[in-house]
Amino acid sequence: MAEINNFIKTKMQEDLESGAVKEIITRFPPEPNAYLHIGHARAIVTNFELAKSFGGYTNLRFDDTNPAKEDKEFVSGIIEDLAWLGYKPKNVFYGSDYFEKTYEKAVLLIKKGLAYVDDLSQEEISKYRGTLSEPGKNSPYRDRTIEENLRLFEEMKEGKYKDGEKTLRAKIDMSSPNINMRDPVMYRILHINHHRQGTKWCIFPMYDFAHPLQDSFEGITHSLCSLEYDNHRVLYDWVVENCEIEKEFNSRPHQIEFGRLNITNTIMSKRYLRALVDSKKVSGYDDPRMPTLCGLRRRGYTPDSIKNFILSTGLSRINSTVPEETLEEALRDDLKLKANRPNAVINPVEVVIDNYPEGQIEWLDAPNNQENEEAGSRKIAFSRHVYIEREDFIEEKPNKKWKRLALGVEVRLMRAYFITATSVEKDNEGNITLIHATYDPATRSDSGFNERKPNGNIHFVEKSTAIKAEFRQYEPLLIETEENKDLDFMEKLNPNSIHISNGFVESSLKDTKPLDHFQFIRNGYYVTDIDSNDERLVFNETCGLKSGFKL
Ligand code: ATP
Ligand code: MG
Repeated sequence: MAEINNFIKTKMQEDLESGAVKEIITRFPPEPNAYLHIGHARAIVTNFELAKSFGGYTNLRFDDTNPAKEDKEFVSGIIEDLAWLGYKPKNVFYGSDYFEKTYEKAVLLIKKGLAYVDDLSQEEISKYRGTLSEPGKNSPYRDRTIEENLRLFEEMKEGKYKDGEKTLRAKIDMSSPNINMRDPVMYRILHINHHRQGTKWCIFPMYDFAHPLQDSFEGITHSLCSLEYDNHRVLYDWVVENCEIEKEFNSRPHQIEFGRLNITNTIMSKRYLRALVDSKKVSGYDDPRMPTLCGLRRRGYTPDSIKNFILSTGLSRINSTVPEETLEEALRDDLKLKANRPNAVINPVEVVIDNYPEGQIEWLDAPNNQENEEAGSRKIAFSRHVYIEREDFIEEKPNKKWKRLALGVEVRLMRAYFITATSVEKDNEGNITLIHATYDPATRSDSGFNERKPNGNIHFVEKSTAIKAEFRQYEPLLIETEENKDLDFMEKLNPNSIHISNGFVESSLKDTKPLDHFQFIRNGYYVTDIDSNDERLVFNETCGLKSGFKL
């Protein structure tokens, strides 16, 4: 794997050299309100690889302080996805475990005259906040005494007030040019069942208050986040300083922002992913068309391909958009030597080799991966009855470029013999149901025969040993065009994003398990799907053999 190198690494190096920090401690803080997507992989790889490169560590922290949308299903999904990527957090924490300590810090701010209980409604608070060009107005409740604020905040915690009736706000500056500093709300009231805390708490800290404190409690040195938090950094520092973090812990965290990752034709927002699942446009979060990590896994992407993809996109303080083909390239790079290359015939047609003895089977030697000797070899069956792809046959050879089978034309069945097609049988509608052929016994692949060259090489699967298979091929879920660019994403959905074909795979795949990766000869990269059963195997196409490659 490539080594991580970016502006954050430089900063960490400097901080270690100057003695500002003794070790590098980072965290990955997902909200457990959806499955992780490929955009999250940037945050994951960055946090884990950076800490690792300095011998430090990374915590996984579920940012579960926004109880309305959180779910245990997502917690276990996130843990599974991280483990699959090969990252082991030093600790798994929950933001909600710090509710007590966070509450104490809020009380400290009140005691210092830096926070107050406000009775304005959410709409009024927005109205009072002002705009980018106009300063905000002080709330009429801003000057409550410390004693009154302590009492009211305690009552908020005890459940004396309804949702939205009161908030706790930081007392900073209603005319600050940075709107985030205009007395931001620190706590709100929500009578709701929290997935870990139950009904113990009815006041919940806001992200801008909770996050810097959670980082502080865990001793995080570098708190990495995406660029949209840029103008929250002053507030982050305000919280750290006024909650007297350095005094208590002898160290303090710093926020550093990086650009978000976008991929062409790929929408990653949780709102969108959830809408696709809820409207049943996809089979679930792990549908192989989804840009979620579980979807990509089921599609056949490997952990290394994802990590290398993320590293290859670099990191800067600008949001970036990467072509979707880059991810496919990373997969091909990873699997080129690792994946075995068996035969799979998609949309088959049967060939009968009339001069080959009925009932005889030969087992021929075939390398598992001709570019990697260490991958070893296997035996493939050959007999009088074989399947080839319908696309590999045409009755009349159209031109010199046709390097496949046709009537009167000889091709090599890869790793077996040369065959020549002699006639076809058709059904009433004119579809070919059987191709008759003859073979030349002198041309067996391991015989060194080189007296003439065949008109191309095609692959095949022997009929009596073939295993039935379903092949699922995919197109992007979304089609973005000039015309539809302003429409809602639900109206940009590609109606043909999945194609299902039937066919056969060779017998060596009989024990394949979900997530086994293959390069099907001449077809592309495929992975075994969980929908496989005793009747038939199911394979998902991960990507083609080459970028934009179509047979
Ligand atoms: P979304 O915008 O998709 O709903 P989010 O940012 O709200 O995602 P979180 O669960 O809060 O999702 O994300 C956890 C971490 O992953 C955050 O630090 C966030 O900045 C980072 N992250 C999410 N999406 C991307 C992305 N596309 N590129 C880089 N980092 C991302
Ligand atoms: Mg978020």
